[in-house]
Amino acid sequence: MPTSSEQLIIIGSGPAGHTAAIYAARANLKPLMFEGMFAGGVAAGGQLTTTTEVENFPGFMSISGPELMRNMRDQSTHCGARIVTETVEKVDLSKRPFKIWAGGKEYEAQSLIAATGATAKRMNLPGEERLWQKGISACAVCDGALPFFRNKDLVVVGGGDSAVEEAAHLTKFASKVFMLVRKGVLRASQVMQERAKNHPKIEIMFNTVPFEVLGEQSVSGLKIRDTVSNQESTLNAGGLFYAIGHVPNTAFLDGQLELDGPGYIKTKPGTTKTSVDGVFAAGDVQDKIYRQAVTSAGTGCMAALDAERFLSRLSF
Ligand code: FAD
Ligand code: NDP
Repeated sequence: MPTSSEQLIIIGSGPAGHTAAIYAARANLKPLMFEGMFAGGVAAGGQLTTTTEVENFPGFMSISGPELMRNMRDQSTHCGARIVTETVEKVDLSKRPFKIWAGGKEYEAQSLIAATGATAKRMNLPGEERLWQKGISACAVCDGALPFFRNKDLVVVGGGDSAVEEAAHLTKFASKVFMLVRKGVLRASQVMQERAKNHPKIEIMFNTVPFEVLGEQSVSGLKIRDTVSNQESTLNAGGLFYAIGHVPNTAFLDGQLELDGPGYIKTKPGTTKTSVDGVFAAGDVQDKIYRQAVTSAGTGCMAALDAERFLSRLSF
């Protein structure tokens, strides 16, 4: 017997999930949200819980990521959404009501919004397993202030906005930050590129990749390779931070929704509709291009409106 039978279940608790919850609750759909319990290695609230200041979410000149997500959660519950702190393990989308399993219980829903976001990638270098969290991290904002990173030369791998943000954050603690960028250009937005290039403590090493992490109890350096000349050398450093992008959190779907090559949920252009009628997708789990808090929130709103229209066509 299912624990409950819902009109709408929302899976995921980033800006997409919470915006969907706010809209759906205000439309009296009584949404039930599974916010996840460190699903994909990220706390409930999503990726913004791993950052410091968010300066591009309209309405806030500057707000900390965790505070913005606390506000969104409060607004969801204030509007009437119910939140369960569990990770959804599997779903059955073969017929309605859809079945959802979380925390050892079964739930039913007439419609579903997947807003499970994405998780930071790792490189799985030799030495990484031994030194993970002993000098290697995928979140400078979470770990950079730890005492063993202080006044050391640190390395950030990646050339996107995250890499610049992480490198800039680490300059508060490090003596110097090397950014290893595998191509000859940064992928980061222009304003972030300028921030990295003009920062006195950041040195960008283009066409460079690490291929081994050195150290026994803690990170002492990296073996690196020039991707143009293939020349190998050693870079001394006391910490390594990955900022090389994310993988969408879609494993729980077990192939029941159409995904694209890298595993993002495919949606019908201009909508949040997926390959299964009644299942909608919002946020980074279906967006590998924009990947912003505000675009996630925008598609969360769209998903709630799409779900509302879908449910209004069903006769209960
Ligand atoms: P996410 O934020 O990824 O949240 C998804 C949530 O769903 C997670 O909590 C996850 O644990 C949960 N979940 C996953 N699987 C399950 C499951 N099976 N069951 C239940 N729950 C599950 N964007 C900006 O606009 N401005 C910024 O300044 C900015 N800074 C950033 C800094 C960093 C370091 C990073 C990594 C990203 C930043 N971004 C920024 C991007 C922004 O964080 C994302 O675009 C946004 O958080 C995506 O929201 P989302 O709701 O799609 O998913
Ligand atoms: P991106 O996918 O944008 O960038 C990933 C970077 O890592 C690229 O430079 C990529 O290189 C590199 N990379 C990937 N795999 C490897 C590998 N195996 N070895 C070496 N380098 C690798 O991810 P981000 O996390 O930076 O950004 C994600 C989204 O979040 C973006 O849309 C971004 O705009 C947003 N964001 C916004 C912020 C803001 O507005 N302040 C802050 C942080 C993120 P290559 O270019 O060669 O593929």
